[in-house]
Amino acid sequence: MGVPRARPLRRNPLTIRQQIAELLRSAEYTAREISKILRIREREVYEHLPHVEKSLGSNSSIVSQPARCLNCGFVFKKRTRLTRPGRCPVCRSEHISDPVYKMPEKR
Ligand SMILES: [Zn+2]
Repeated sequence: MGVPRARPLRRNPLTIRQQIAELLRSAEYTAREISKILRIREREVYEHLPHVEKSLGSNSSIVSQPARCLNCGFVFKKRTRLTRPGRCPVCRSEHISDPVYKMPEKR
């Protein structure tokens, strides 16, 4: 009892973005897998991913395997947003694979 003492400084836990970056340094993951591991909603993962990518510098991309149309094979290579596209521009199919993310190799 008595006068409360100042608590020792605790180190900040890793932010979600840091945790995502850590995951992507070790292996490839889809947004869905990241959401399960970190116990956040998939939508939140998509909100964080652009920031994770931006922190790498202007020319780096965390997209390891771009989204692909499962019907005709169209690959969404030039997609700048990181989310999964809703519909294939070629065949209009909505069967699109999830993009896979990974930290680019350092050169
Ligand atoms: Zn297609």
